[in-house]
Amino acid sequence: VFDTPPSDTIFAKMIRGEIKVDPVYQDDHVIVLKDINPQAPTHLLLLPKKAQIGLLRNASESDAETLGRLLTVAGNLAKEHNLEEGYRLVINQGTKSQQSVNYLHVHLLSGRQFSWPPG
Ligand code: 5GP
Repeated sequence: VFDTPPSDTIFAKMIRGEIKVDPVYQDDHVIVLKDINPQAPTHLLLLPKKAQIGLLRNASESDAETLGRLLTVAGNLAKEHNLEEGYRLVINQGTKSQQSVNYLHVHLLSGRQFSWPPG
């Protein structure tokens, strides 16, 4: 998985328009898609458009605005989708966390009870 450069991942291809997508939301920084294999009644993926970051450890200071926008958009989506009963944001990093796509993305999950600590 991590041998694939972020720019060669399926998410980068979607952002470049090489793979057609039906975004739930997008702005200059962030595109939001429904996860193809949802793990909750609501399962969205928030992808940064400009900074093609694989792992967060490879992000730089110049990515700060995009990184901030990911969380701002997450909050806006929670408001718009009336997720007041709770939701969870997840960023998997590395193989032990089950990350499968080497392109930074935030999962927004809602609509069911989540456990803590996570499995
Ligand atoms: P990760 O495991 O890297 O944290 O999350 C990758 C996510 O991308 C998974 O939840 C997976 O279901 C989702 N995914 C993989 N391929 C596609 C796709 O082609 N379209 C969409 N919408 N989601 C995808």
